[in-house]
Amino acid sequence: MFEEATERPWSSALNDEKRDGTYVCAACYLPLFVSEIKFDSGTGWPSFYQPIEGNTGSKNDWKLILPRTEYHCARCGGHQGHVFDDGPKPTGQRWCNNGVALSFVPATESLPELRA
Ligand SMILES: [Zn+2]
Repeated sequence: MFEEATERPWSSALNDEKRDGTYVCAACYLPLFVSEIKFDSGTGWPSFYQPIEGNTGSKNDWKLILPRTEYHCARCGGHQGHVFDDGPKPTGQRWCNNGVALSFVPATESLPELRA
């Protein structure tokens, strides 16, 4: 997940995750998204319209012809996905996440301790 490669679409079980809960960084368990802001983007990747504030960092990615913004876990720097500006209201953003970079914690379970 540190090589910024993109997994094949539809390969993530999280894409169909509908339960209430929290999406945490798969590497260090920092909470990045909550289930309420997940939406079905039709892309095959878990998509959110807003991250948990302060827990992601981003930089422009010029590898494609159109610039896109890469974002990563603010704590461990692990690559998470890319943010686009064609998402739903209220933000208009689409945070398209690499499914293998996230772990889902159902609301019925407590969040894991952050790890180094
Ligand atoms: Zn992390």
